[in-house]
Amino acid sequence: MKTIAAELAYFLRGRARQNLKVLMLYCAFLVAMVLVYAVLFRSLMWNLEGREFSLIAGIYWAITVMTTLGFGDITFHSDLGYIFAAVVTVSGVIFLLIILPFGLISLFLAPWIEHRLRNRLVTELPRETTGHVVIFGVDAVIRAFISKLQARGIPFVLVTSDHDEALRLADEGLRVICGSPTTASVLSAIRVSAARYVVANLSDPENAAICLAVRSQCQTPIAVFVDEPEHSGMMHQAGANKIIALHKILGRYLAIRSTTCGALAHVLDSFGDLLIAEIPVHGTPFSGKTLENAAIRQRTGLAVIGIWERGCFTVPTRDTQLNDKALLVLAGSRVQLENLEQLIGEHAEDDLVFILGHGRIGCAAARFLERKPVPFILVDRAENPLCSEHIPIYGDATIRHVLEDAGIDQARGLIVTTNDDSTNIFLTLASRQLLPHIRLVARANCEETVEQLYRAGADFVVSNASVGAGILLNILEAKASAFLTEGVSVFRRPLPESLVGQTIVDSRLRPRTGCSIVALEPIDGDILVSPPPDSRLENGITLILIGTPAQEELFDTAISGH
Ligand code: AMP
Ligand code: ZN
Repeated sequence: MKTIAAELAYFLRGRARQNLKVLMLYCAFLVAMVLVYAVLFRSLMWNLEGREFSLIAGIYWAITVMTTLGFGDITFHSDLGYIFAAVVTVSGVIFLLIILPFGLISLFLAPWIEHRLRNRLVTELPRETTGHVVIFGVDAVIRAFISKLQARGIPFVLVTSDHDEALRLADEGLRVICGSPTTASVLSAIRVSAARYVVANLSDPENAAICLAVRSQCQTPIAVFVDEPEHSGMMHQAGANKIIALHKILGRYLAIRSTTCGALAHVLDSFGDLLIAEIPVHGTPFSGKTLENAAIRQRTGLAVIGIWERGCFTVPTRDTQLNDKALLVLAGSRVQLENLEQLIGEHAEDDLVFILGHGRIGCAAARFLERKPVPFILVDRAENPLCSEHIPIYGDATIRHVLEDAGIDQARGLIVTTNDDSTNIFLTLASRQLLPHIRLVARANCEETVEQLYRAGADFVVSNASVGAGILLNILEAKASAFLTEGVSVFRRPLPESLVGQTIVDSRLRPRTGCSIVALEPIDGDILVSPPPDSRLENGITLILIGTPAQEELFDTAISGH
């Protein structure tokens, strides 16, 4: 009853009320029309055919003819009468059967349906909402992030000022609030002061405005994506706690994986003195050998804690073959990486890297290679307004002669980084066919393209979405873990009581959780990287482990008992 009353009330407000007036006028016009026809009918019947009918009979006749019911019980028998009846029928069809329903639909039904659709959006979160993540701006990165949040059962709310986008998101079953992100009423509607984190993923000026608006209300931590790394200081000033220069990070990841030069430049993250680095096998003296024969540990002191091969991460054994296409994940100290640098430096080929796409990410990759230094050639079909330092070769990279004329056959490494995934797939396919042995690193703008790029021949794919989402999740969970891009991380845990006194083999950590021990960190003393399987786990030490988020969770539930 209440809902019917609410729906009826809609027709008495604003535009609907105006439209109701128009409808009333139109109905009055129709009534007048029927009356005029009824009077004319009586007079024509009397004058032409000498028959007399009452006014009620006239009204009855006009309505049955206008609605095309035409029972045929009262009919004219003269030519003028037929003409009059035809005029009444045609005007009835036009005014009663066409204009009236059309008016009803456009003035009432359509606005009412739109009103109902608009009202699907919630206008504020329930008062008791706490610990949620507030997200401004939805793109592929945020989509990957929210699927991680859903998997963990962490509540979140999306905020957009675009009404159509809000409706689309609501249709997907996501919680969304429509409104300007910087207005106080919207911020209190999303309970920003009770939120766990705010993620600002709009343009740099909009993100700065969000930081200031949130800070004027509360101290909820804010993570911000910046397009230009130079804006970081300004974002800090505006109140951001974490600043993510995603394009720079992605450019760095692409560059790291495209060249073997300078092992220290391949460092991804660190745990105090323990550095985690990634280096392609291609172009190193280890190529084609087993891990045992490569003797990386004996020659440099570094431990190989993982191997990436075409998007698959594995923990190697002594017999693992080090293929040209593989990427080694190494752990060790700065000095040990310097040892590796000397070792591969002796073998280093003259690296030349081609970067296809000089946008924000391609430019960041170029800047990274510049510092190593590794020579590179940029190709783009358009000018990059944000960069005045690099001079690319202008042309569409999908046209074969553009790359051939630029001398791509001289390249050792290739970074495919345009903003269009189908172009990236095409460039990967074409380059792999032209240069079967080139080190080919490609960027996936959408998560779904990762697999296709590997199939097209990429040695390594860096996915914007999974890198961005992984970084956000690390920030959110305040993990002291090193994020090794595509879903693998190195993390630290105090030794669980259940494992005290056991050896690494006895602990059966790997078969039980899939995690591997990278290093042991005693309370005092040096970190022991890649400890032998018979090392005893002494009370008080800290484990440094490597694994996927699922394996990490398994460790926490099955071993630590959290
Ligand atoms: P960003 O997303 O900022 O890294 O920019 C991607 C860059 O790729 C832009 O500068 C585009 O001009 C460039 N790009 C896109 N398609 C092609 C293509 N077919 N050939 C060369 N460059 C391209
Ligand atoms: Zn540049």
